[in-house]
Amino acid sequence: MIDCLFCKIVAGDIPADLVHETEDTIAFRDINPQAPTHILIIPRKHIATINDIADEDRALVGSLYTTARDVARQEGLAEAGYRVVMNCGEGAGQSVFHLHLHLLGGRGLSWPPG
Ligand code: 5GP
Ligand code: ZN
Repeated sequence: MIDCLFCKIVAGDIPADLVHETEDTIAFRDINPQAPTHILIIPRKHIATINDIADEDRALVGSLYTTARDVARQEGLAEAGYRVVMNCGEGAGQSVFHLHLHLLGGRGLSWPPG
């Protein structure tokens, strides 16, 4: 956990462009955006992957989605539509092992993703 990039952002040791904060979550702009709006929503608590979510984390994981809802409204994406996605494991493209939702919007998004 000491070497976790997103824990360092939570602690304020690494700067990030924060767009939203709650008691349990923070949201900040992705450093390498894949859409006009690309925001990462993370729990303050370190959880490495979906595989590591404990039953007691259920409310915390729910708060990632209520934060996504609020950030989408704040960014003006709620009506046009947006995508929320969480990669689990290297095979799915996860590169930072601290749970995070990607919120993508501001352009058309095709399906299925690559
Ligand atoms: P993953 O590939 O794990 O699903 O997503 C990790 C995301 O974190 C990537 O989209 C990547 O661009 C972003 N990222 C990596 N390092 C940093 C950083 O230092 N700051 C910010 N804001 N985003 C980062
Ligand atoms: Zn972490």
